[in-house]
Amino acid sequence: MPNVQRSIEESIESRPLDKPDDHAPIEQACIPSAQEPQTGTQLSQPAGAPDPQADSVTFTAKHLQGGGEPDLLIQSSDGALFHVHTWILNGASTNAFDGLASKAGSTHLTTAAVSIVDEAASTLDIILRAVYRIREWRQDPSTNALIEAVDCFEKYGLSPASYVSAVPITEGGATRFPSENRSPIFDALLSRAHDDALTIYALAGHYDLHDLAVAVSEHLLSLKMSDVDEDLALRMQTTYFMKLLMLHHERQKALKEIVEPPPAVHPPTPGSGSRKHDDIQLKWKMAVANLIWDADPIHGLSVSDLEGTLEAALEGEHCESCRENFVDRIRDVLVKWECVKTTID
Ligand SMILES: [Zn+2]
Repeated sequence: MPNVQRSIEESIESRPLDKPDDHAPIEQACIPSAQEPQTGTQLSQPAGAPDPQADSVTFTAKHLQGGGEPDLLIQSSDGALFHVHTWILNGASTNAFDGLASKAGSTHLTTAAVSIVDEAASTLDIILRAVYRIREWRQDPSTNALIEAVDCFEKYGLSPASYVSAVPITEGGATRFPSENRSPIFDALLSRAHDDALTIYALAGHYDLHDLAVAVSEHLLSLKMSDVDEDLALRMQTTYFMKLLMLHHERQKALKEIVEPPPAVHPPTPGSGSRKHDDIQLKWKMAVANLIWDADPIHGLSVSDLEGTLEAALEGEHCESCRENFVDRIRDVLVKWECVKTTID
């Protein structure tokens, strides 16, 4: 879509840009200084127009990057101004940030112009923070704003895989994504997975962001696949829909195998006469049958859920040896259940 250029009515002092230091670490260089003004250049608004949102407090005229001053102004659809660097945008983007960065790049800002984009300030802020690799957020972005920003990446020539990434660590067969190994957007999305796991998983599947899908899938163990509507299923793509289906299937199969063997039956004890003690196995079988066929909680079954359900079956059992065998079996089940995979492959 076209990017409109228009002159800023306020004059901007003409000044040479410092030569940027290509080797400056972005994460450090882009942190705003304490003296940074809280508002940037303000465009005059036509009479009757709604008040623009506040300009970016991070991407201001004094947002020095590697020694270089901003040489491009971008205005969000709701009127906030962002001062940015064409060399940064060009380094990150395959299409000069949708062409915006190809229009500037002069070493002398003699003519000021602003490029107006379709995205709101909240979305543009996320996109630019991703480009500049800024980890701090001035306001926690919503899940929707994060998703909207990632959906704009391709438009601005940014690779979702590059900006929504993490370096996994495998320990004891489990894969983890330590916070220090996550890109800012990956970190922000994963921190919202507790509440919005399915939409974030669908985003990950859509752009084949495998590590994000793996990390988020852990929050989908109690999901009923029937709750995945057609739009979400299409968005996450068949591959990731099937991965989720397989995860649930494998956990259900593993649970059956783990709980199937009943507790041991002990031989008659002194004083118990000829009473058989194999009814403890019947109690076990009834308890696990309820577990396995109760489809609701099975996928997200926590260790404490499992322990509570099995222990309840011991109620009314007075033989100490039977109780010991039963409890031993519960312990065995819990240890094995904790080792069952909780994420997609
Ligand atoms: Zn017994």
